Amino acid sequence: MIKFTDLHKSYVTGSNKLHVLKGIDLDIEKGELVSIMGSSGSGKSTLLNIIGLLDAYDSGEYYLEGQLIREMNETKAAHLRNRSLGFVFQSFNLISFKNAMENVALPLYYQKVKRRKRNKMALELLDKMGLKEWADHMPNELSGGQKQRIAIARALISKPKVILADEPTGALDSKTSFEMMDLFKEINREGITVIIVTHENDISKRTDRIIKLNDGIIEINIENNKS
Ligand code: ADP
Ligand code: MG
Repeated sequence: MIKFTDLHKSYVTGSNKLHVLKGIDLDIEKGELVSIMGSSGSGKSTLLNIIGLLDAYDSGEYYLEGQLIREMNETKAAHLRNRSLGFVFQSFNLISFKNAMENVALPLYYQKVKRRKRNKMALELLDKMGLKEWADHMPNELSGGQKQRIAIARALISKPKVILADEPTGALDSKTSFEMMDLFKEINREGITVIIVTHENDISKRTDRIIKLNDGIIEINIENNKS
């Protein structure tokens, strides 16, 4: 599903070059629940953004669903992103002047689904996730946990094959974080590949595989006991 071979990535600012990923080999199968760990600045977000086609890499190879991702134009990348990937961020990234239902429906707007249909689909998903009563609430009327659930619903609305979550529990208390992991596990049980960047052991412990980045390479890549 996701395959990296000897992948390198540097950031160049002015005359400075920062070599962030220094030869990443990685193989993530369809249906896996994986966590990516590592200290701050170790390249976790960079790696996730490359997987998510939000950033380019310098050398090596990246295959997504058997397709080589290389010098893709933005239109093609956006198409592949819309079709296959869902994103969840630490800061939720909800649109403040739209209600929960409209936020969930947003990806369908970009797919040119008509308003009535996309709102109906968003409501059905919110109902399935036990969030229907929050549909007409604005983000500032929701708790952190509710906002993140809405953000996860927005990631799920276009039926992605992979969910990419960058420190999704970083802004949540431990009880809410644990509930968020229940939701990710449920999503994963339905067959969606889930990749979570985290620096919390309590989160990574609940994933099937733990990958640890250190100084631009994968230092640890282990199967984890299912719990
Ligand atoms: P992590 O998510 O593990 O904290 P990042 O992938 O965000 O790490 O960043 C890795 C390194 O690359 C850091 O030193 C960071 O400052 C640097 N970096 C990240 N994004 C950029 C960018 N757009 N331009 C320049 N440097 C960057
Ligand atoms: Mg990061």
